[in-house]
Amino acid sequence: MTHIKTIRVMILLLMALPFKRLKVVSTDYKIELLPQHECDTYSVAGTCHQTPQDPKIKIAKHKEPTALADTVLHELLHACWTTMNLDGREEEERAVSALATALIAVMRDNPKFSRWLLKQCNIK
Ligand SMILES: [Zn+2]
Repeated sequence: MTHIKTIRVMILLLMALPFKRLKVVSTDYKIELLPQHECDTYSVAGTCHQTPQDPKIKIAKHKEPTALADTVLHELLHACWTTMNLDGREEEERAVSALATALIAVMRDNPKFSRWLLKQCNIK
């Protein structure tokens, strides 16, 4: 493992995220720390970069486990929205169906993430 990879894993563990990638249907998203200056500048707790060359979800440090889970799920749903080719004119039923399908795929394909999410919500 390179130094940079080791450092990335350490940062993610410090953030209490035990996964560094999420497979979102057909796309692998890198998970990274959102730097504090970006949180302050854009008033966000997370971002989802959707470029096909470098799909990436960035998450800020959080104090509360459920707030962290909320932000991760929020950005993950943006990733699902893109992966399922939804756009701003979607009809509600079609959008909800596509997101449910994508979310099931994500939970099945990312067992570490699924276990982590349940733990954040205090579900054993
Ligand atoms: Zn959003």
